[in-house]
Amino acid sequence: MATSKTIPLSRPTIGAEEINGIGRILRSGWLTMGPETARFEEEFREETGSRHAVAVSSGTAALHLALLALGVGPGDEVITSPFTFAATANAIELTGARAVFADIDPVGWNLSPAQAARKITKKTKGILPVHFAGLPCDMRSFRALCKKRGLFLLDDAAHALGAASGGRPIGSLADATCFSFHPMKNITTGEGGMVTCSSPQIEKKLRLLRFHGLSIDTWKRHQQTSLQHPEVIRPGYKYGLPDLLSALGRTQLGRLKEFSSRRRELAKLYRRHLSGVEELTLPHAGGEGTAHAWHLYVALLSDPPRGLSRDGLVQALRSRGIQSGVHYTALHLHSYYRKKYGYHRGDLPVAERVGGSCLSLPLYPLMKPSEARKVCGTLKEILRNGS
Ligand SMILES: *Cc1c(COP(=O)(O)O)cnc(C)c1O
Repeated sequence: MATSKTIPLSRPTIGAEEINGIGRILRSGWLTMGPETARFEEEFREETGSRHAVAVSSGTAALHLALLALGVGPGDEVITSPFTFAATANAIELTGARAVFADIDPVGWNLSPAQAARKITKKTKGILPVHFAGLPCDMRSFRALCKKRGLFLLDDAAHALGAASGGRPIGSLADATCFSFHPMKNITTGEGGMVTCSSPQIEKKLRLLRFHGLSIDTWKRHQQTSLQHPEVIRPGYKYGLPDLLSALGRTQLGRLKEFSSRRRELAKLYRRHLSGVEELTLPHAGGEGTAHAWHLYVALLSDPPRGLSRDGLVQALRSRGIQSGVHYTALHLHSYYRKKYGYHRGDLPVAERVGGSCLSLPLYPLMKPSEARKVCGTLKEILRNGS
């Protein structure tokens, strides 16, 4: 049972600044997508070093729109990681294309470029890697592979705002990059997302599809002096981010450095206290030029004590007031993908092993070091006692 003393898996950091920002928009007379969202996009573009940024209603909407803007549709294939949240692959399926899973690498648990290369067919349009837990995947290899084979590179950075690879920020390294502002993510707008991209044509398509496929959006029409009738270019979606939420996003983005450094400190603390525990495999922190965003702290219960399963460990932690999580069970074994494409256990062994033993420990900027130490102490005690 959750009690007031429970240490949650995650918790958004919301203060007076966030609340005042929303209040300012509530009093402004313009609540839906307008000038505040435009400012948020501009600031996000600068933060990620990207050419264009388009705000949307969720990370899932970001993926869906980015795939459509990159021209994905029925008959196409997009290669992705099985070790991710359902939305990554679902978004591919929603366009009518096929999500093709390739195995992850056993060290960083991100989509393996070599495994992805083996899945390329005539139908492949692009590759969609995920920066799992905030650890950047091998963008240099993916860029080279995509360039060589004429594919697009779209990265799912729902975990990776603030991360960097080869010294450059995630968001500036692919044809397009998708972010999420769900309350668990590194910054939040309640619900929301962003697509960054390098080409102005893609940006234009994203903006068109975001708002009904209309040639001009409401805020632009509102600002115009002459009467103009917007025209449907192609049926689009209602995927915009309202000003009300962009105000929250701007405040949170301004605090990203502070949030990131707290996450980094807690990850170091976990490593210090858990590095000698034989039953666990700790997450890879990344090499030279890599900045990990530490969205999640995921360890593997790689050598469980007799009688204790990963799920049993989650339950034992919960009964001692500590919430943990499972991110994620391998997607190709979910019933939709199994039934549609005939996947079996054994097809993607690394993702299955990692997905079957992963455990996410509490991690959020407001977490106190004493709480993280308590998590480590309790975890070690459970592993010692076997329950
Ligand atoms: C959270 C998440 C998404 C979806 O984001 P929403 O904002 O919840 O729609 C997509 N991919 C990954 C890897 C995620 O963790």
